[in-house]
Amino acid sequence: MSGRPLLNRRLNGLGTTIFAEMSALATATGAINLGQGFPDTDGPESVREAAVRALREGHGNQYPPGPGIPELRAAISDHQRRFYDLSFDPDTDVLVTAGATEAIAATMLALLEPGDEVIAFEPFYDSYAACIAMAGAKRVPLTLRAPSFRPDLDELRALINPRTRLLLLNTPHNPTGMVLTSDEQSAIAALAVEHDLLVVTDEVYEHLVYEGVHRPIAALPGMRERTVSISSAGKTFSFTGWKVGWVTADGPLIAAVRTAKQYLTYVSAGPFQYAVAEALRLPDTYFDNFRTDHRRKRDLLGDGLRAAGFEVYQPQGTYFITTDITPLGEKDAYAFCRALPERCGVVAVPNSVFYDNPEAGRSQVRFTFCKREDVLAEATSRLQHLASSTRDLEA
Ligand SMILES: *Cc1c(COP(=O)(O)O)cnc(C)c1O
Repeated sequence: MSGRPLLNRRLNGLGTTIFAEMSALATATGAINLGQGFPDTDGPESVREAAVRALREGHGNQYPPGPGIPELRAAISDHQRRFYDLSFDPDTDVLVTAGATEAIAATMLALLEPGDEVIAFEPFYDSYAACIAMAGAKRVPLTLRAPSFRPDLDELRALINPRTRLLLLNTPHNPTGMVLTSDEQSAIAALAVEHDLLVVTDEVYEHLVYEGVHRPIAALPGMRERTVSISSAGKTFSFTGWKVGWVTADGPLIAAVRTAKQYLTYVSAGPFQYAVAEALRLPDTYFDNFRTDHRRKRDLLGDGLRAAGFEVYQPQGTYFITTDITPLGEKDAYAFCRALPERCGVVAVPNSVFYDNPEAGRSQVRFTFCKREDVLAEATSRLQHLASSTRDLEA
């Protein structure tokens, strides 16, 4: 072999995702994993049974249609009308993907030219950086700063230049729990129209908003023809292993994204597509209870973290809480998270890895609350030892 590095330059530095690293640490130490955001109880029994039925009856066991099964595309279209009064033609404006992850990848690969700039909120969900890099484009961070994590719209305006092609939004935002307000969405939409930018919006936490409501930016004037909206069944129905996601957009945008998607997975999750079609038609009580349950869990974990000495940034959405460890006498989130399982049997994730500018998130640690209440109670009781063990170290 030549001395040339095997990993290409585009992916250099992307290494192993922090979720894999911290989940492996949780397994190795037996610690409670509040790092990776996956629920510890499965979604509705009726939906699980629908998947079993599809498998048994031979629905989706062979390659489903490229854009997704018609039943699911119709259910996605109806969901967008029911919750947001948005109308998408299931035949031309909806595409089923292997989770939101593939939707993000296919969208970036389809819409970006090498050298294009993509403005995204940092801290960012880690696949954004990788997908922008694989497309040969350049990410330009708009830093969300504690304690409110609200985007600075003057800063956004200043970042836009002739190379800017796309704004990559995420609301509710992982990891900070920030939810864009109507005013912010309107201002962002106005900038997109003024500068003729594409907008890609990751809305996988659309049903987990605790303060205010989720409003898709696609509904705003001038946005329909430039917006790609992405969501997924994983978070909303607590089946993250099924990897059923979707894109809704105008026909020409869907056609572009589909072109990339068909050479990534082509299709996936045949029988699960039938089950998710049923899930999307669950009554409002399902969605209301799902949100209420998670609000209670948010409050339980938030109270426990405050009592343990963390500074807690109250999330308006998602199933994550971002904290600051400075009050515990700690500075470095990454070192803190690596030591945490050993110190008290809990795993969390350092937000610093989600920043291009790690200083901005140096002392931030993210915990998930999509776990059973007894698990959250046990985790927070373990975390109460932190302040005293810090005092012991100092003594
Ligand atoms: C979990 C998550 C995804 C991935 O969704 P999948 O459907 O599991 O691929 C995408 N974006 C954000 C912000 C997430 O938190």
